Amino acid sequence: MTPRTALTIAGSDSGGGAGIQADLRTFFAHGVHGLVAMTAVTVQNSLGVQGFTEIPADVVTAQIKAVATDMGVNAAKTGMLASAEIIRGVAKTLDEIGEFPFVVDPVAASMTGHALLREDALEAIRTELFPRATLITPNLDEVGLLTGISVTDEESQRAAAEALLDFGSRWVLVKGGHMRGTTECVDLLTDGRQYISLSGPRYVTENTHGGGDTLASAITASLAKGASVPDAVAAGKKFIERCVAEAYPLGAGVGPVSPFWVLSP
Ligand code: PLP
Repeated sequence: MTPRTALTIAGSDSGGGAGIQADLRTFFAHGVHGLVAMTAVTVQNSLGVQGFTEIPADVVTAQIKAVATDMGVNAAKTGMLASAEIIRGVAKTLDEIGEFPFVVDPVAASMTGHALLREDALEAIRTELFPRATLITPNLDEVGLLTGISVTDEESQRAAAEALLDFGSRWVLVKGGHMRGTTECVDLLTDGRQYISLSGPRYVTENTHGGGDTLASAITASLAKGASVPDAVAAGKKFIERCVAEAYPLGAGVGPVSPFWVLSP
């Protein structure tokens, strides 16, 4: 039987732990067929991003149209988008190809602090993509860049979620993983009516490369299979927790989170 499909619009990670590579293995782990619109080729390893080359915007949009018109897209997500031109092209193309759940992970920089976006691009994500998004999934660094709010506790997390909702997405997930001094990872999901607090254990590991991508693609896979946003996010959190718990060292720097556990008997 033909599986459901999910489209990732994102960059390649030569180290295989984040980006498109994380998205495809996560889609596979969910039994969903992954479709790809590549936006950039990064040169990176466990020590960080050495550089990237972006794909011309018309080639990005052509990839989206090619798969959407022939194979059909049940849900889509964005990761690294590289430039404002690519973002504007993606937004226009999404309007042309119709309705499906759309997750925007506003990737701005790698965890090692390397920019993955040209300068004007974060603003383009906010104005062009957030209003079209079913869900946005910023981490606390991205929340700071987007809203100017520094999240340190539940109250500021809620204020940030409300500020982000004003940019026009249907749902916001403010991930608390980068909050300091907490033993739990508390994420806040809201559509402005429901406020759902999702709490999970904080695992001590150096190896968290690709964590954000893996969570967003797990949520996208569940949405492709017809789950509601709260159910998809709850399942995604359980999935990423296990991937973080089973992350492995690889190279001299930060190793990847791992979905290999899905293959265990
Ligand atoms: N490289 C690519 C292509 C990515 O999409 C991302 C994150 O989205 C990263 C690197 C950074 O991943 P991390 O911050 O988990 O190291």
